[in-house]
Amino acid sequence: MSAPHSDNPVAGTSADDVQTVRRPLPLRPLCRTCGSENLARDAAARWDIAIQDWTITGLFDSTSCDDCGAESDDLAQWAPLQPGIGARVRILERPRVGGDRFRNREGTIVRTHFAGFYVRLDMTSRERTQKTELVETSHLEVLAPPYSCAG
Ligand SMILES: [Zn+2]
Repeated sequence: MSAPHSDNPVAGTSADDVQTVRRPLPLRPLCRTCGSENLARDAAARWDIAIQDWTITGLFDSTSCDDCGAESDDLAQWAPLQPGIGARVRILERPRVGGDRFRNREGTIVRTHFAGFYVRLDMTSRERTQKTELVETSHLEVLAPPYSCAG
């Protein structure tokens, strides 16, 4: 795993730079039948003499749901986790006339909105008031949890 980007907000001079280093949202598997996240897969474990413990040596394709009992090789539906209140985020460049003045700014999510999240921006040395900006989820890079399961 590599993170070639810099945390310096002035690094990267084009929007393309920001897009290429974007970290994807973490995923979680949901039951295709009932939406539960209590999914399980069977695995084979063998005794490992060197570490003196059982280690998983094989994972079977079949997935089962603890809640509704469904079982299938294709039961898991992968859903991205959304950032939650308190998460640290970075604003990716948004299509704005004259450019996005908040591009690459970092902040903390303080409130949710149906179209995205309100981000309280970290103050720069030149700012005298704290700014809060509504940002669409697709233009946020999540830097640190928490994540929420909404959506
Ligand atoms: Zn289920």
